[in-house]
Amino acid sequence: MTELAKYKMYINGEWVESSDGGYFTSYNPATGEPWCQVAKGTSEDVERAVQVAHQAFENSEWTSMTYSQRGKLLHRLGDLIAENYEKLADYETLDNGKLIREMRGQLQYIPEFYYYYAGLANKIHGDTLPIDKKDMFVFTSREPLGVVAAITPWNSPLYLTTLKLAPALAAGNTIVIKPSEVTSASLLELMPLIEQAGFPPGVVNVVTGFGDPVGNALTSHPLIRKIAFTGGTESARHVVHNSAKHFSQLSLELGGKSPNIVFEDANIESASMGIIAGIFGASGQSCVAGSRAFLHKSIYNEVVDRIVTRTSNIIIGDPMSPTTEMGPLATESQLKRMEHYVELGKGQGANLIYGGKRPAHLKKGWYFEPTIFEHTNAEIRIAQEEIFGPVLTIIPFENEEEVISLANNTNYGLAAGIWTNNLARAHQISKAVRAGIVWVNTYRSISPIASIGGSHWSGYGREGGVESIHEYTQNKVVWMNTSTEPMADPFIMR
Ligand code: NAD
Repeated sequence: MTELAKYKMYINGEWVESSDGGYFTSYNPATGEPWCQVAKGTSEDVERAVQVAHQAFENSEWTSMTYSQRGKLLHRLGDLIAENYEKLADYETLDNGKLIREMRGQLQYIPEFYYYYAGLANKIHGDTLPIDKKDMFVFTSREPLGVVAAITPWNSPLYLTTLKLAPALAAGNTIVIKPSEVTSASLLELMPLIEQAGFPPGVVNVVTGFGDPVGNALTSHPLIRKIAFTGGTESARHVVHNSAKHFSQLSLELGGKSPNIVFEDANIESASMGIIAGIFGASGQSCVAGSRAFLHKSIYNEVVDRIVTRTSNIIIGDPMSPTTEMGPLATESQLKRMEHYVELGKGQGANLIYGGKRPAHLKKGWYFEPTIFEHTNAEIRIAQEEIFGPVLTIIPFENEEEVISLANNTNYGLAAGIWTNNLARAHQISKAVRAGIVWVNTYRSISPIASIGGSHWSGYGREGGVESIHEYTQNKVVWMNTSTEPMADPFIMR
């Protein structure tokens, strides 16, 4: 048997084993077989990483760099990722089973995020305030927070890391990253590029391992000033609880149950493709998956026919093949989760119109068919809970008022799709639907210039865009008395 690749952790610019020398196995979802071993971090490793990140923030060449210099490092990192995108994409596909086509596309686009925050780095400035007090000069500055803890899931490891890493560094913080235990390799492969770009040791650190103990130790550490978490609601509850110990600032990018709404005046062909893109792109393992399709009654049958016809032609198989359209799910437990939800859907009376099982022709790997249910009741569990896989529930509606109420009847508030050629309607529904991102006549578009984020069970805070810089800085207000007069009365507010 060939020996598996072995990954150590990256702390203070060095490759280190975990404190107890332990490793865990990472699997290739396309085969279900082990492909590498990763250092299994401990609380001691977290302690070590946070301490060096703290040192790097307190007294190092990093802190003495100008914002422009930091921006140049970020720009160089973007260039290096662009040069190495194929290799990095290969690791992501090996680890999470997503299509190589998609991961290459994502990796080719990720440099744009580093360029964007490289450009923003020397535009993080305060203001002078037109203060309403005599003889006072008042200005503000935005200061970095300190050590940031970044925790990511497995579905788009480097993209979701980038949303945290780029603004955190642009703002002058240092960082400890804990990738998902399912997908550690691509982040570790990024570390030599961090070094090559010129980031000093200790500025970027990676501790690999599980939510417990690594995630728990990191999010409850007294030196962590900000936690940027992307993941599921259950883990997020632990993170919120842990963050309260030392009042670390927190941003949460969680799940969704996003509505994809098709009106009778939409371009039906585009809308049908948009529904498929929304739920079967990335095998539905996307926080913004459009897992609830609301179709106007007058075009219901036509759209369902189109969706089912295209879905029945989806090529499922090896994610490394350029012609594959749907790869496997990332883990075996994801596969079991799909089977569980299919049974739940059937049990609650939903009509299974396509899929619902493992594809017969794929004997190995964690594949699941694209699955389509229909029901008139939007309150059944498959239409309310985040499934995080290729399971769509289609629901008919009669008018705008009804569909707004149905779309908003969920604990989540992350994304929404609207398909219409009526401009006024597009504006009205965009406003009425509760979501942090609304796509009109498109779906799953992203850019460094536009933020993402949600509300309620989808979390809080924003990633991407200029807003993100505010998540990694704090405002300081400086009051300067310009009067030379002695202070008269010490017992009144000035
Ligand atoms: P998960 O919550 O199981 O894991 C996410 C990360 O949290 C992992 O690194 C995990 O090890 C860590 N973790 C687990 N328990 C922890 C704890 N107690 N303390 C600290 N860290 C802990 O999620 P997942 O299965 O990896 O990812 C799927 C979820 O992520 C879905 O709900 C999906 O919607 C969400 N997601 C959201 C976005 C977004 O931008 N809103 C993007 C991608 C994925």
